[in-house]
This record gives sequence, C-alpha cells and structure tokens, in this order.
Amino acid sequence: MDDKEKLSNPKVTIQTIQKYGFRFQKRYGQNFLIDDHVIRKILRAADITKEDTVVEIGPGIGTLTQYLAEAAGKVYAVEIDEKLLPILADTLSTYENVEVIHNDILKCDLNRLLGEGNRCKIVANLPYYITTPIIMGLLEGQVPAESITVMVQKEVAERMDAGPGSKIYGALSLAVQYYADTYLAANVPPNCFMPRPAVGSAVIRLTARKEPPVSVKDDRYMFRLIRTSFNERRKTLVNGLRNDPELGITKEAAEAALTEMGLPTTVRGETLSLVQFAELSDRLQP
Ligand code: SAM
Repeated sequence: MDDKEKLSNPKVTIQTIQKYGFRFQKRYGQNFLIDDHVIRKILRAADITKEDTVVEIGPGIGTLTQYLAEAAGKVYAVEIDEKLLPILADTLSTYENVEVIHNDILKCDLNRLLGEGNRCKIVANLPYYITTPIIMGLLEGQVPAESITVMVQKEVAERMDAGPGSKIYGALSLAVQYYADTYLAANVPPNCFMPRPAVGSAVIRLTARKEPPVSVKDDRYMFRLIRTSFNERRKTLVNGLRNDPELGITKEAAEAALTEMGLPTTVRGETLSLVQFAELSDRLQP
C-alpha cells in the first residue's frame, strides 16, 4: 500500500473514522497514531523482519498494523473494542498475514495463540490506563516474547529505565529490569496522536533476558520486600520493612542484615540496587 493511503496520513484516519461514525472511547485509552516517522521508529526499535511473528496489543483502526503486516511474517492483533472490528476488516483487507483477535489482552493466552514453542515480538501503542498490568503480566507470565516494544507514557518509560539513586527509581524499575534489558528508543510529543493525549509519550524496548541478572532464593519474597521498601519512601528502609506483617521482619533482623552487607542502618530503599535487594531478601527471608 502506498504510504499516502495509509492511516498514518491524518486525512485517511479522519475519513475512516467519519465513514464508520467511530467515537473515541477514553476508557480504552484510544489515542491513534497519525505520524509515519514515529511508526517507522517503532518498527526500527522492534527490529521486525519477515521471519518474525508479531503480537500487536490494541490495533485501534489498524494504523501501526499496516506497517507491521508489511514488515513481519505474521501479525496477531488483539483488540478489546468490538466497534473497531468492522473498521479493521476494511483497513487491513489487503494484508493476508494479519489475524485480528477480539479479546482483552489481560485474558488472552498467548502461548495457546502462538502454539507450543513458537516465539514472538510484541509491539504496541499501549492503552496507558493499563500499561503496568500489561507489561508485568507479559514479563511474569512466561510469555514466549523475545522483545516488547511499546509506546507508553514518557514518565512510565523513564521509570522502567531508571537506576538506583534517581527520584523515579522504584518497584517498576526493578521488576522490569529483573526480566529484561531496557532501551529508550524515542520521545513522542502529543501531536503525533489523534486525539492528543494530555501527557508526553516514549517508545521503550524491553528485551527478555535469558537468565535473571541476580540469583535469589525466592523472587516473590524479594518483590514483596521491594514493593514495601518503595511504599514508604519517606521512611528508612528498616522502618518500612518492619511495618509489613507479611514479611515478618523485626527491626533488629533488618539492622543486622544491612550491617552485614556493609550498609548503614539508616539507608533508604531507593539507593539499593537489584543485587543488594536480592542479597537482603536471602538474608531476611524467614
Ligand atoms: N495501535 C493503534 C494506534 O497506534 O493508532 C491504537 C492505539 S490506542 C493507544 C490503544 C488501543 O488498545 C485501542 O485500540 C484500545 O481499544 C485498545 N485496548 C484498550 N484496552 C485493551 C485491552 N485490555 N486489550 C486489548 N486492547 C485494548
């Protein structure tokens, strides 16, 4: 398809929306891309070839999907909004390698969809209202994804990419970096979408690690400890931890563990690296 006929041309998007009398649904986070350069940046960051099977989350009216279909071997596009289905049937009619699936991505069994042993690359301009559950569901759920390249709110992309000591470093940074290498590919201003979102956006690629960067006895206990450490940012780590009954940690045990690790007992959670959280978790787990 000629680029001018694609939905990345704002005129084509407007015509399509008017033709079907489509109304944007805020509750589904619908902000459609209308910028060819941004879509090309997403494709470059995702490194899509004809060898690849791509899962797109939320195709909308099919704007990014048209490019994915031309670059990939096969595209599964999972869309929750049934009003978009007739539009997608029209805008993707010339692409035989696209399958639209009407489902909520949080309920979709990607292992079953792809078939045993088959891997995929995930690409999406995500609905921002459920960015974290989608990303964490994909990373924790043993989905066979080599990489996840997504448009998210700029601040969320920066949090995923942040390291210890930074103000935005937190439980999300540690959880994402446990499973994946992060790469911030591009910042994207609101005028590249229709309608314009109230916030800036960014494209981030998460490349799945073969092995976690640290070994820890019980990663669920470690993530509980991490979450508690960041819930109480204004407290010292010791005071935060001893207030969480589920962890079962006393002030004395927390202080002793930190001292053995060569850290001051007044340390705050946001200065600890993943390696240090793993060591602390192993030392403190009852
Ligand atoms: N990919 C299109 C584009 O870039 O123009 C649309 C992106 S729009 C930001 C997000 C899309 O995700 C919308 O089409 C919305 O209906 C869909 N969506 C929202 N929640 C979803 C969910 N739980 N499962 C699947 N799709 C969802």
